[in-house]
Amino acid sequence: MPRLWTAAVVANAFHVLPSVAARALDEDPERVDIECLELLNYARVKRLFDDAKSDEELAPYANDETMLLVRRNTFDVHHSRTHPGDDRPGCPQCVRNREARGGR
Ligand SMILES: [Zn+2]
Repeated sequence: MPRLWTAAVVANAFHVLPSVAARALDEDPERVDIECLELLNYARVKRLFDDAKSDEELAPYANDETMLLVRRNTFDVHHSRTHPGDDRPGCPQCVRNREARGGR
């Protein structure tokens, strides 16, 4: 990502001046700001996933890497908490996950 665009995105996300964001990025060898942006994006996509009333609403995100990660994590948690192991026949979330994986 070009430096100015990155500074603009960070400034917008954290409500600081772009010049402040640019200096912070220059002094951020661990790229904390960028990592935090990724976490904020994950939270945004998770809200989209949770708020969707149907998978059709999520169709625009079918190939979005973050949405795929959210979906995988959500169903991993579902399985580990609800019924560890295989899908349970008739479980709406298992059915939804199976359909999202193309019936596999
Ligand atoms: Zn299930």
